[in-house]
Amino acid sequence: MTDHQERNPELPKKPEPEKPRVALVTGASRGIGRAIAIELAKSGCTIAIGYRSKEEEALETCRLVKEIYKPQTSFSCPLLLPIELEKSSSCQQAVEKVVKEFGAVDILINNAGVTEDAPILGMEDEAWEKVLSVNLDGAFYMARSCARYMVRRRWGRIVNISSIVAQRGGRGQTNYVASKAALEGLTRALAIELAPRGILVNAVAPGTVVTEMSKHVLAEHKERILPRILLDRFGTPEEIASVVAFLTSPAASYITGQIISVDGGFGMKI
Ligand code: NAP
Repeated sequence: MTDHQERNPELPKKPEPEKPRVALVTGASRGIGRAIAIELAKSGCTIAIGYRSKEEEALETCRLVKEIYKPQTSFSCPLLLPIELEKSSSCQQAVEKVVKEFGAVDILINNAGVTEDAPILGMEDEAWEKVLSVNLDGAFYMARSCARYMVRRRWGRIVNISSIVAQRGGRGQTNYVASKAALEGLTRALAIELAPRGILVNAVAPGTVVTEMSKHVLAEHKERILPRILLDRFGTPEEIASVVAFLTSPAASYITGQIISVDGGFGMKI
């Protein structure tokens, strides 16, 4: 118990988990997810690398994480974790695998996401369902499965990766925008339910970040988007990852239910 808690016995004790913490990052085979896995490894976490099918790329993340562990022999090897986020059973099995391997899951980063843009009149059911099922259903399945283990330890951190379009909308992106707006609602609802169990839930909403996902948007709309960004440049995966790592750190122990924009001041240029 801390001195502060001794002086204020009504304050609940919030035990920290035994080190190292176990972090599961979905969509960690590339882009923002890879940068998050690396940043969390730097902060001392044991890492489970979620991905869908690109094993080669997931192995590269694994190699980069191992590079960070190299000087310290006590770390477990990262776990490669294929997940089909649209399937509840796949999410459940993936979380069970992490707990079997590492004994816990302390941190969940719901990072994986997909786009399938089309104007509303041409938006096929499949495109709508795919984006909603990966970006929203998957985040829900993962949070539910992880929360079952986190509540037992009365400690957990969940960070959902949203997007600034959740608040602003986006042309030809009804499915993606709806999925991210719902993800932000899910973040707040989870934060309310899980706060009494010592689990903090937040979201990070990136602006345009240079990755595989944004490649096509940047190729077509770079000249239109760039002038709207106060910092005159696009973001890097590392700039998103550092905020995610902060939200999982002891420094953020009084932050929950928040959506943090990391967008270089998008839309603020006057
Ligand atoms: P990315 O480079 O396209 O990577 C997507 C990741 O998600 C990959 O690891 C992929 O695995 C995984 N994934 C895709 N479908 C999946 C499924 N059905 N089940 C499990 N995993 C699946 O994306 P990113 O740009 O890094 O974006 C990461 C997150 O940031 C997303 O939620 C995105 O919406 C959000 N975001 C991105 C930007 C941006 O400008 N890039 C802006 C705002 C928000 P495989 O490699 O195996 O396919």
